[in-house]
Amino acid sequence: MTDENSWKTQRQALDAAFLQQLPDLMANIESAWQPAQTGGWNLETLQQMERLTHKLAGSASSLGYAQLGEAARTVNRFLKERLPQPPQAGWMSQDLQVLAAHLTALRAAAAAPQREADEHEKLVTTSLKTTQSLQENRSAQLIYLVEDDLLQAGEIAAQVSYFGYGVKIFSRLEDLTVALQTEIPAVILMDIVFPEGENAGIEAISALGKTFPAPVIFISVREDLAARLQAARAGGTAYFTKPLNTASLIDTLDRLTIEEDPIPYRVLIVDDLLVQANYNAMHLRKAGMQVEVVTDPMKILLPLVEFHPDLILLDMYMPDCTGMELAKTLRQIDTFVSIPIVYLSAETDREKQLEAVGLGGDDFLTKPIKPAHLVSSIASRVERYRKLRSLMLRDSLTGLFNHTKTRERLAQEVSRSARLGMPMAYAMLDLDHFKTVNDMYGHAAGDRVLKSLAQLLSRRLRQSDVVGRYGGEEFAVILPNTPGPLAANLMDELRLAFAKIRHRAGEADFTVTFSCGVAAYPDYTTPASLSEAADRALYIAKRQGRNQVAR
Ligand code: GH3
Ligand code: MG
Ligand code: MG
Repeated sequence: MTDENSWKTQRQALDAAFLQQLPDLMANIESAWQPAQTGGWNLETLQQMERLTHKLAGSASSLGYAQLGEAARTVNRFLKERLPQPPQAGWMSQDLQVLAAHLTALRAAAAAPQREADEHEKLVTTSLKTTQSLQENRSAQLIYLVEDDLLQAGEIAAQVSYFGYGVKIFSRLEDLTVALQTEIPAVILMDIVFPEGENAGIEAISALGKTFPAPVIFISVREDLAARLQAARAGGTAYFTKPLNTASLIDTLDRLTIEEDPIPYRVLIVDDLLVQANYNAMHLRKAGMQVEVVTDPMKILLPLVEFHPDLILLDMYMPDCTGMELAKTLRQIDTFVSIPIVYLSAETDREKQLEAVGLGGDDFLTKPIKPAHLVSSIASRVERYRKLRSLMLRDSLTGLFNHTKTRERLAQEVSRSARLGMPMAYAMLDLDHFKTVNDMYGHAAGDRVLKSLAQLLSRRLRQSDVVGRYGGEEFAVILPNTPGPLAANLMDELRLAFAKIRHRAGEADFTVTFSCGVAAYPDYTTPASLSEAADRALYIAKRQGRNQVAR
């Protein structure tokens, strides 16, 4: 099924669900209205009716039933204005007649609900396409290396591939031109000196014209400014001299290939009306976000902990507790102090909106909202939140989770594994004789080693794995859904790759190894015991001679 079709199917399913619920909703409105004719109604039935028309107005206009939405809103607005006075005292027969007329209009609209052909669909379809093509580009981790010295080429390709990139080597310039016609890499690494001439690499790139297909990094023995200048003029993004400093090359490659945070935004929608929630969820998902829906606000804690959303989209009026109450309560829990909360409601009263924002919400979006607007409002808030959070939670040298955050994630993953009955593994890594590295090559070189281990771990592990810098030269890795033996094998592969990375300090180059201890759930069932067991295993790995993984 194409996305276009799945979009249509989802859309039809939502429509069907809405239309199916509509008679019940109308029947409830009618039964709240019933006592009025006999003079037996009270504030409660009015409130009931107010709430029901509020819901109807919101979901009808969101789904594009503009006329129905407007009719429901008219009834709702009238009720809201008149609500403070008890009906028996303040209400006149005139009021009842006006309300009756509004209701007649609502009945008519509900009997033949008409959906406008909506521009919403068009808008969101476009945004979906862009998201998809971005993801296609992102998965391309292919590097073209154009280098006539095959010995050097092999060494560079090996170094780059330890970090998880795929490399194709071309020893002749003309082979590159041919290859580019069938497959476009993420980055081209281009040597400059070829048998054709001292500048042949630069000239070959210039010959590709202004619109060359991928960023080019020049790598050369030439250190002269003339070569650098020409390379930059030809459109080179970066220039590295040989022998290559792998850590900074990988840094540049990462920057060029991972342009955006590849982890999808996570949004938790809290709305007692499922149709409404699903409708918004669908649009956010189409824009590439992950969405979970909660219709009972009292059940919000579990998804908050497990799904750990980047943002909560909250309905204002729900039966058991209002959105404001919920926001206020969440703000009193440490973990949720800073998570963005955005209200989505048909509430147009500016004062009520401000009050809601004062009670722990961050912003207010008014229904009906255009899907494109919903998506962009949410995306920009999540982006800002993630930036802020990463400043707080991440280590500044390596960009990995810091000690506190790593421990927090370990606790989360342990309870998740327990609930889902899945294994998980925890690994502690410590660089071998790192003090000596610092002593021999300097602290700056040591820092670069730490950074390259961080790069290796983040690049080679899965997105769901958690990598943290636990302390100075200690790292921790959490591997959800991975049994102990598998985790040990995996860490051993990484150990072998890391040991082959050549680090540079001035003229010298050297390699560094790490030792690793692995412990797994359910062998150990608490964060503390897992962490102790991994620590013990690490100690054993060290004692047995370092550069190894122990369980
Ligand atoms: P072992 O194999 O037993 O782990 O030996 P080691 O030398 O790695 O262990 P030790 O704990 O004695 O020394 C750790 C060294 O790591 C000491 C410290 O200077 C260095 N280190 C810790 N944090 C950093 C950092 O951020 N940058 C640099 N360059 N070095 C660091
Ligand atoms: Mg240490
Ligand atoms: Mg050490």
